[in-house]
Amino acid sequence: MTADALPKFKPYTRQTIRQAPQWELLTPEQQEAVQVISHVLPFRTNQYVLEQLIDWDNIPDDPIYRLVFPHRDMLPAHEYWQLRDLVLVKQDDAAAQQLVRQIRLRMNPHPAGQMTHNVPRVNDAPLRGLQHKYKETVLFFPSAGQTCHAYCTFCFRWPQFVGMDDMKFDARETTQLVEYLKTHKDVTDVLITGGDPMIMNTRSMEEIITPLLGPGLEHIQNIRVGTKSVSYWPQRYVSDRDADDLLRLFERVVASGKNMAIMGHYSHAVELRQEVAQQAVKRIVGTGATLRMQGPLIRHINEDPASWAELWRTGVRLGAIPYYMFVERDTGPREYFQLPLARAHEVFQQAYQMVSGLARTVRGPSMSAFPGKVVIDGVAQVGGEKVFALQFLQARNADWVRKPFYAKYDPTATWFDQLRPAFGRDKFFFEEGGQGPGHVPGAATVPVLPRRVIPLVA
Ligand SMILES: *Cc1c(COP(=O)(O)O)cnc(C)c1O
Ligand code: SF4
Repeated sequence: MTADALPKFKPYTRQTIRQAPQWELLTPEQQEAVQVISHVLPFRTNQYVLEQLIDWDNIPDDPIYRLVFPHRDMLPAHEYWQLRDLVLVKQDDAAAQQLVRQIRLRMNPHPAGQMTHNVPRVNDAPLRGLQHKYKETVLFFPSAGQTCHAYCTFCFRWPQFVGMDDMKFDARETTQLVEYLKTHKDVTDVLITGGDPMIMNTRSMEEIITPLLGPGLEHIQNIRVGTKSVSYWPQRYVSDRDADDLLRLFERVVASGKNMAIMGHYSHAVELRQEVAQQAVKRIVGTGATLRMQGPLIRHINEDPASWAELWRTGVRLGAIPYYMFVERDTGPREYFQLPLARAHEVFQQAYQMVSGLARTVRGPSMSAFPGKVVIDGVAQVGGEKVFALQFLQARNADWVRKPFYAKYDPTATWFDQLRPAFGRDKFFFEEGGQGPGHVPGAATVPVLPRRVIPLVA
């Protein structure tokens, strides 16, 4: 193939989506919803998603259409009509901006808090772009990786995206990361996340990863990258101009004795039905890197257990490892997307029952809550009481991990903070005593405030 014939990444946003041939396939009402709601939820898609992943005979119910295209029901009717009026009828920019701010605040009351908690400090100065919640893993958010190949409508990370499209690579961030890691020998894993770090070119990725292979960082065993590029732009690993260089980089990490772990965000089986997506998996694992599959369970998008089962089965066949199914709550339009925990457990269990042991490495449904990652193990009847059986897979306090505990069964609860202890107790075990939510020793020195924690869904 000549270079000209290679598919080139072409994003579409609110400003340009009209130029996509598929735009004509939306009804006027659907087009209007995109124009209106994308003021609140940043909209971005690309040619591959439009051409290969969305089945246009199936809109608006097509899962990938629902995943990337704003839908009218994502806002309460009164907000939708108010915003529509300002944007399309009055064309009052200032008033529209003010309403957008209000709606965003309502959807995400602590957007600023996201990066102020678990933020490591050196000499009392916060290290921008780092987060350290669990002892062994440090999260790194390079500023050049804060956008994605397409945006998921449920994603709550939009405060990061707005106005950040062209953040430049900043080498100082890597220097700070390395300094921090050199003095934290408990850390074994660095998770490079975003947005989507794979939006960066290979040269920028090299500038982040190569220093992690250097002296003084022998304790860093796993370099992880959280990404949805495996689904939204698998060409990143197959035909992009620097795709081969990226694979060489993975090989260098592996040759250095460390694990190169790609944490791939997959939402639906259709994302792995494409030839190029399958090639991407094979090329990634062909370097000796590992590819884990994870993603949130979202109403309207992936409620079908058969889709999860197909995804995990295909992934395993190609050499990937099913990892987490998350419960999503930190969504902007969460009323639109959320599912009761009881239902989430059902979906997980049914999907799990359909796959062989090789795919049962997956865990879920898991909530990234304030005290840690809580998984719903099941619904049980204990001493005449119907309960959820729960446990921590990750916790602020490592002692809490893998201790079964129980909450009253509640068919409508959608998040951990709505659950109450079972058996007439008034506290969960981890709320008792003086060992309440603590810090990673020597890491976060900022006050611990209850807040939403960023789930790791790149
Ligand atoms: C999930 C998560 C991690 C990594 O957890 P693993 O179970 O090791 O994948 C690290 N930090 C935060 C804040 C997380 O939510
Ligand atoms: S879930 Fe990941 S890929 Fe989707 S918009 Fe959010 S950061 Fe980007």
